[in-house]
Amino acid sequence: MRHEGERWRTLVSTVRLGRDECRVVRPARPLRHAPLYEGYLGVEACVTKESALGIAMAWAFAMRSPRTVVYLPLRQSDCECRSADGPALDLVLLHQSLGFRLSEWKDGRARLRGGRPHTVVCQGMPREREEPRWDRQELRGEIVGGTVFVVGSRSAFQAGAEAFRQLVEDCPRHMHEAPGTHCCAEVTAKDQHPNWLHVVYCNEHRVHA
Ligand SMILES: [Zn+2]
Ligand SMILES: [Zn+2]
Ligand SMILES: [Zn+2]
Repeated sequence: MRHEGERWRTLVSTVRLGRDECRVVRPARPLRHAPLYEGYLGVEACVTKESALGIAMAWAFAMRSPRTVVYLPLRQSDCECRSADGPALDLVLLHQSLGFRLSEWKDGRARLRGGRPHTVVCQGMPREREEPRWDRQELRGEIVGGTVFVVGSRSAFQAGAEAFRQLVEDCPRHMHEAPGTHCCAEVTAKDQHPNWLHVVYCNEHRVHA
């Protein structure tokens, strides 16, 4: 599956976060089969091809949008397919240059209302390196009030984009050739295991969903 040229249907809102107004972009419809929860080494989402593409499109958009908060209300997509118990979580992607306090998100989220429909045509993921390199990148993950915040620089989001590109474009072939293969994207904060984001294909619904 090619990510480039795919259409991502979104809702765009402007809300006050702390002292500033901020643009918030979220999917027009909640992603199905993308529960996010605390796993053994960090947070994990269990996905199908469709929800993997949804997260990848959101990530690529966040990478290119330093002034925008990208909000994936994954709590609404909770399902039975998960490898660990624990509360369902939302995902928010933002650049560290935005600089609002994460604790302010809850109030901002409550003010979101409907939003304007907007379709993003995906520009694809830059393919710069063979392997994503995190060591010199700045990326952090934090869980505040039921939301996983991934806060990064453009270069950190770009490194993550390569992991998602492989997930969306290469893994369907891996799973077709060897149906039991563990296929995932690993987004690691500063090379540490805690707070990593592990997006893994569901064993049951990876091919047909
Ligand atoms: Zn499943
Ligand atoms: Zn794979
Ligand atoms: Zn994995």
